[in-house]
Amino acid sequence: MNEFLEDIVRDAGTIGIAGHVHPDGDCVGSVLGCYLYLKSVLKNVTIHPYLENISGSFSMLSGLADVDTSFQVPEEPYDLFISLDCGSIDRLGKCEDIFRAAKRTVAFDHHITNTEFADVNFVDASASSTCEVLFGHLRRAAIDLPIAEALYIGILHDTGVFKYSCTSEKTMCTVGYLMSKGIDTATLVDRSFYMKTFSQLKALGLALDKAELELGGKVIVTVLTLADMKSIGAKINDTEGIVSELRTTEGVEVAVFVREDLPEMYKFSLRSNGKVDVANISAGFGGGGHKMAAGFTAAGSLNELLTQLYALIMLQF
Ligand code: 5GP
Ligand code: MN
Repeated sequence: MNEFLEDIVRDAGTIGIAGHVHPDGDCVGSVLGCYLYLKSVLKNVTIHPYLENISGSFSMLSGLADVDTSFQVPEEPYDLFISLDCGSIDRLGKCEDIFRAAKRTVAFDHHITNTEFADVNFVDASASSTCEVLFGHLRRAAIDLPIAEALYIGILHDTGVFKYSCTSEKTMCTVGYLMSKGIDTATLVDRSFYMKTFSQLKALGLALDKAELELGGKVIVTVLTLADMKSIGAKINDTEGIVSELRTTEGVEVAVFVREDLPEMYKFSLRSNGKVDVANISAGFGGGGHKMAAGFTAAGSLNELLTQLYALIMLQF
């Protein structure tokens, strides 16, 4: 039997909650799910959720109005800080120092590369998502519709609408239970996962147009430079999902999407079709993730970074 979240939190009077930089669905869903749950089960406790600005794909979720996007440092360190969906402490970004200052820290995560950086770590690399891990620590009767929607969104995004290999029987039992709270799943899936802004559509179009095959067709790679992003008026959040589209190309073992975020500073997103462990490769560049989906940020010459990357991928063929 898992320990319930309210028991893990114990007598903390002030609680900070945060996820990782460039929040994705699982990050947003787990932060909001955790926040809404604690807000409903605890009385006279200050709970302060932090998130970077999020994509419109999650704007339908409850609790967003309470989220601190300006990363206010508390006057007194938090009694407890909860990290969600972060494989390593640096992934907390602007919350890293606030987390370090807290009197006690707890982390919920599902990354195989997790470094167990908190005082107490609930990490299950076999779970589809952090939302699935968190669900295992919530009292079912206390899960209302807004909490269920937040967790559902997280699982939805980290499983690619319940189709990636991380989707287990347990995942679907969790999803089934969340649905029993009355989620309008068809609308939520469409609005959160499939609907794109025009900028997202243009970014996807440009990325597909610029895609190239490498290593005899086993690797597909696309780079969107700062100039490319500017030419279509795209923002960082607009490239979400591009790498998954690249991965569906026949014959491809690894899909690589590279976005230039600052001059000569690149965010790499890697997806595998099963043979290559991209978490292992990303860890070699200081990043991390899962066997089939991982990433890292690196500075330097793009050609040199790609050459190094291909060499590491080739070692696994
Ligand atoms: P994405 O490619 O969608 O940004 O990320 C895929 C997976 O890899 C996610 O689970 C994400 O948390 C992880 N990931 C992406 N970038 C980094 C990074 O720079 N460091 C670490 N530790 N994990 C990353
Ligand atoms: Mn996740």
